[in-house]
Amino acid sequence: MSITDQAIAANQAYAKDFKLGHLAMPPARKLAIVACMDARLTVEQMLGLKTGDAHIIRNAGGIVTEDAIRSLIISHHLLGTQEFVIINHTDCGMLTFKDDELRAKLEQTTGTATIAPVHFHAFSDLEQNVRQQMQRVKSHPWIPKEIPVRGFVYDVKTGRLGEVKEGRTASAPVG
Ligand SMILES: [Zn+2]
Repeated sequence: MSITDQAIAANQAYAKDFKLGHLAMPPARKLAIVACMDARLTVEQMLGLKTGDAHIIRNAGGIVTEDAIRSLIISHHLLGTQEFVIINHTDCGMLTFKDDELRAKLEQTTGTATIAPVHFHAFSDLEQNVRQQMQRVKSHPWIPKEIPVRGFVYDVKTGRLGEVKEGRTASAPVG
């Protein structure tokens, strides 16, 4: 039995006792989250969320890519979310390589160069990466300025979230 077959079997048990068919499409808590896909992050559990509460947009690194922005715009403008959260985490795989190295390795092993993905978005500074993602959201002209965008690093050893304060720009208040 493949892993997928095991998962499908688990779904049959899940559906037998299913009681969530009444949920509405818009997230009940009006929250949208961009988080890393890392298997150790159970985003709902770490934030006390239930099915139907929030949009959770996940990719390698918790990066605000063009596609994540697309989802956030739909999340807010069509489905009413009012607060955004970015979650990166300690021991992230994206800290372990560099875009150019991975590209070179893949080109070598496959013998093929490609036009996509343009970036893998590997990074070396976790907090700086979170700040950059917050800035990408905040600077988008279709994301209203009044939407709070907060960033966090989740510690995979303790389960705790640590908030990342916004950039050190010249005009930022001290303290
Ligand atoms: Zn990660």
